Amino acid sequence: MNKIAQIFQTLDYGPAPEMPDQANAWLDSHGRKFGHFIDGKWTKPGKTFASDNPANGEKLADITEGTAEDINAAVKAARAAFKPWSALSGYERGKYLYAIARAIQKHSRLFAVLETMDNGKPIRESRDVDIPLVARHFYHHAGWAQHLSREFPDAVPYGVCGQIIPWNFPLLMLAWKIAPALAAGNTVILKPAEFTSLTALLFAEICDRAGLPKGVVNIVTGQGETGQAIVAHEGIDKIAFTGSTEVGKAIRAVTAGTGKGLSLELGGKSPYIVFEDADIDSAIEGLVDAIWFNQGQVCCAGSRLLVQESIEERFIAKLKTRMASLRVGDPLDKSIDIGALVAPVQVERIRDLMKRGVAEGALVYEADGPVPAKGCFLKPALVTNVSPANTLVAEEIFGPVLVAMSFRTPEEAVALANNTKYGLAATIWSENINLALDIAPKIKAGVVWINGTNNFDAAVGFGGYKESGFGREGGREGMSAYLKPAWIAEVTSATQVPGMTGHKKPIMPVQALLGDHSIDRTAKLYIGGKQARPDSGYSRPVYNTMSGELVGEVGEGNRKDIRNAVEAARAASPAWSGLSAHARAQLLYYLAENLEYRKNDAFTSLMLQTGRGGELEMARSLERLFAFAGWADKYDGAVHNPPARAIAAAMVEPIGVIGIVAPDYLPLLGSIALLAPAIAMGNTVVLVPSQVSPLSMTDFYQVIETSDIPAGVINIVTGDSNTLAKTLAEHDGVDAMWFFGSHEASTMVEKASAGNVKQTWTSRGLNYDLSDPRFEGDYFLAKATQVKNVWIPYGA
Ligand code: NDP
Repeated sequence: MNKIAQIFQTLDYGPAPEMPDQANAWLDSHGRKFGHFIDGKWTKPGKTFASDNPANGEKLADITEGTAEDINAAVKAARAAFKPWSALSGYERGKYLYAIARAIQKHSRLFAVLETMDNGKPIRESRDVDIPLVARHFYHHAGWAQHLSREFPDAVPYGVCGQIIPWNFPLLMLAWKIAPALAAGNTVILKPAEFTSLTALLFAEICDRAGLPKGVVNIVTGQGETGQAIVAHEGIDKIAFTGSTEVGKAIRAVTAGTGKGLSLELGGKSPYIVFEDADIDSAIEGLVDAIWFNQGQVCCAGSRLLVQESIEERFIAKLKTRMASLRVGDPLDKSIDIGALVAPVQVERIRDLMKRGVAEGALVYEADGPVPAKGCFLKPALVTNVSPANTLVAEEIFGPVLVAMSFRTPEEAVALANNTKYGLAATIWSENINLALDIAPKIKAGVVWINGTNNFDAAVGFGGYKESGFGREGGREGMSAYLKPAWIAEVTSATQVPGMTGHKKPIMPVQALLGDHSIDRTAKLYIGGKQARPDSGYSRPVYNTMSGELVGEVGEGNRKDIRNAVEAARAASPAWSGLSAHARAQLLYYLAENLEYRKNDAFTSLMLQTGRGGELEMARSLERLFAFAGWADKYDGAVHNPPARAIAAAMVEPIGVIGIVAPDYLPLLGSIALLAPAIAMGNTVVLVPSQVSPLSMTDFYQVIETSDIPAGVINIVTGDSNTLAKTLAEHDGVDAMWFFGSHEASTMVEKASAGNVKQTWTSRGLNYDLSDPRFEGDYFLAKATQVKNVWIPYGA
């Protein structure tokens, strides 16, 4: 039989190799030895480490290990470049980004082949997914650069950004970091992962050829220590990190108290939910992409299959059949499905995790089929017979391993999907769009794909909830991660306490103000809609801040009170966040109305505690409640139009439970200015009011009670601010912390928040003038929310 007839007979794939010649020629042109790219020049190679091809173990090049001096030089160059670069018009900056996008397209095959050789991913993926998305990212951000001053009129860039990326999508992660940073006017120092530096180095060459001013992009290669040196460098204004949750937590702790901007894109264990009415064949194809794309080394991989019990058997049988046709092999072969993992150490890590899972009762199925004898290859695997506690269900494997479980009802699907510390992505398959759109908002994840999976686009934000990190990449949210308000310095002061000046002695004697209240003014705590005695059984005195006279007492809250308050806030969270924005607005207006009704009492309380007249504070507090009632149904999302037959609905969601520690000053407004945006956006709150003058907020209980605010939405615990802040920051049931206090205590709060990767906002010892009307805008609204992008396909 001749060869062609034989092929028709067997329908076997023939080899379809992509030639590595040009990539090899490029490596040769650098003598296969690289220094860093700093200040527009290549440095001489220093101490090097090898970068190997994981498909065959052959060395591709030697890469220089970045030292502290290298980082210093890069920071110096980036700092010098910052002023002229940020001063360029958006149009000019946009043109550079456009030139980079064009250059990437022109050399797209070289980038794709080099990426595949360095990382092991199939050439089909690097050629058709990674590199086109890279170019798209630079094109998209060229537009943001040009429209920056119109779209973000009050914002300025951070300055010098340190960016650290992982090895799974080397050039794509670089694009996600560098494109928005440059568009916003920042300059960057980027460290690629040690296993995959080559396309970043080729990118440096492209920047040079595109005429990018020197120092705007600096590439420093190295290992974990180089990353650490970037994170710790005092000359860097913002750190953007993508990688493991473990390293993300360490970076959170190290940057605590430094005032550096921070965004963290961390790990995931994303659910892939298949309902019984799904188009099963499509769901199987989607699943192949969800878990075996890039050998499963994808942060948002659909690694947890949740399939409805009624179709489980049929679905698993079909999946096994499909697995048998997946081809594992040379990544440069255009007809393989699964390439090499990035390095031997990853293969070992996955094997160890599998052993643990099997010892805990898991059953592993691997399809038959050849695997190359040499190189970092693993067969696709399906794991069944697991409980939620099994290591393979709980841990991120970051390899070609799918774990399968079943569910009976939609409620159970949601509970299982959310039963993870991560919250990066989720996939839902159902032909019933009502069901899918009912489930999507209930999943705690930054991205939800309906009847599709692994959709990415530069216009659509990507990022996590919970321990998958905070900050977004892509779209408007991604741009704002590289910008800060231009006006913030105008409303902060290190020495002056706003609203506390102008009087030398109390304008009315304490005794006259106390009147009928002089008998006993010991306020309790407010937890779960009820006044509660403090667990400690202690009270703390409250004095007039001018005369020092005793004006009342409040409960001394402790760890247990915080625990109860967090429990109450968590219990109230689903109903409050599920309420319509209109209904929340009504309740905020009602709060304002009732506060106004008790204006005289509130006013007396302010005078009693501070000695000064509280007209302005009272007026501003009312205004603030009105302002955020007005925002409740207006600060909402968008519908993106990515280049696909799909829309992406960017939904603005609350963060969850926010711990708020109010400033000592402004006893009423200091709490209201923070409480109002938090609850307007659907968060529930544990509030620690001013520890010096807490009576305004203990009086506020009655306003809450008469305003129909559901129990548990606002919980108030009085006591020592720093002690209570520490307990809140360490509590895994709290999703975000807003803290007003000293620099040291702010550092403590940020450090303690690393435990579950809480989002934090701290005053770091500065006094913020919360009466400034600019705080009526979106400053705290943005901090009170996170964006979830729900991808919805259309077309018959
Ligand atoms: P790591 O967290 O180990 O590394 C990520 C980057 O950080 C690498 O450049 C690494 O350098 C560097 N690094 C390591 N230690 C430190 C440190 N102490 N301080 C500063 N930088 C450090 O992750 P991996 O590279 O192993 O990537 C796999 C992980 O990344 C997975 O867990 C995955 O979930 C996550 N990931 C998340 C994504 C997301 O968007 N959320 C996307 C991609 C991956 P080096 O590699 O040279 O040692």
